[in-house]
Amino acid sequence: MTKIGIIICNRYHTCAGGKCLRALRNREGAFARYEGEEVELVGFTTCGGCPGGNVEYAPAEMKRNGAEVIHLATGLVVGYPPCPHLDAFCAFIPARYQLEVVIGTHPIPQNYYLTHQRLGTWQTAGWQERIQQVLTDEPTRLAYD
Ligand code: SF4
Repeated sequence: MTKIGIIICNRYHTCAGGKCLRALRNREGAFARYEGEEVELVGFTTCGGCPGGNVEYAPAEMKRNGAEVIHLATGLVVGYPPCPHLDAFCAFIPARYQLEVVIGTHPIPQNYYLTHQRLGTWQTAGWQERIQQVLTDEPTRLAYD
């Protein structure tokens, strides 16, 4: 059993979590790593808005609930522009809370994929690495449009 928390980008603060929860149930996107395992979602919140002040505190509550892994939701990489603080969050959470951080939750929706391809957002090796768990394939991306 792995316990996880999800932190979403505050731009999508009204999101009801539909894509994340569906992907978690189906073990798709960044949740494919849990295939064959039990997973419990023990926390779900937003970053609190730029520059992401809630990232300083939310993992503490998630950790108290048993979280071992914090997923930074796919919205942080697909937003326009992607979150400029992503790398800082990825460094801070393990350093402060000794929790693993995974970039992404549900597969990238195809419409975001196409726009970012046109923008050239993810052309660098660094971005290829950041999106690797949520890039998936076209049929899956279309299913999350
Ligand atoms: S861009 Fe980053 S810091 Fe700003 S609201 Fe989204 S996740 Fe938070």
